[in-house]
Amino acid sequence: MIRKLGELFNAIYPELCVACDERYPVDGSCFCFHCHSELPFTNFHLEHDNVVEKYFWGRLMIEKATALFYFQKGEVVQEMMHRLKYKNEGFIGKSLGIHFAQVLNESDFMDEIDLIIPIPIHPSKRKTRNYNQSALIAEGISLITGIPFYENILVKHRKSPSQTLKSREERILNLMNTLKVNQSDLIQDRNVLIVDDILTTGATIEAACSLLSGYNCKLSVAVVAVGKY
Ligand SMILES: [Zn+2]
Repeated sequence: MIRKLGELFNAIYPELCVACDERYPVDGSCFCFHCHSELPFTNFHLEHDNVVEKYFWGRLMIEKATALFYFQKGEVVQEMMHRLKYKNEGFIGKSLGIHFAQVLNESDFMDEIDLIIPIPIHPSKRKTRNYNQSALIAEGISLITGIPFYENILVKHRKSPSQTLKSREERILNLMNTLKVNQSDLIQDRNVLIVDDILTTGATIEAACSLLSGYNCKLSVAVVAVGKY
């Protein structure tokens, strides 16, 4: 088993650390020793009522929520997420998902989760980007935990409308109208983990969770990076 896992890492981990893109990663990790010790891990999976969970208070019923890193402008996490989103470096998404799952496995965070759903992007965006970065993160988490991920249950069938001068409620409703649920029987009464790359305003995740909560599923949220408040 250990050897198999090692082979898996070798097959999908990049040659260089995904954070600095300079040094060699430590065995079984996507980060070099230096980056791993310097990266702003939140450890929210070990903290009840953490910042990400509090974000949803008064808005949505969420079972658990966490983020892997804090995100600050001009720092290495931002650079890494930028490369994942805009520089066609999809391997970063899968590597971060794998690392995220290893971190989450230190706690009971994933214990009750039945399936993983990434936040979708519009097909035209997916076409130019070649992938949905959140789906790659979800795939990485799925590889380690063995919990299935589904990219086509929650889909974005319309582009996001212009959101200027609208109230938050209107923005959420507009975003909900861009999303659609397929195969709802797969999520009915299940524990679903929603995965996204970055939590900024949180409007997209809120819209997605609001839509999914109509199917009587329990929702948890895992994002790779959250802004430092
Ligand atoms: Zn590094």
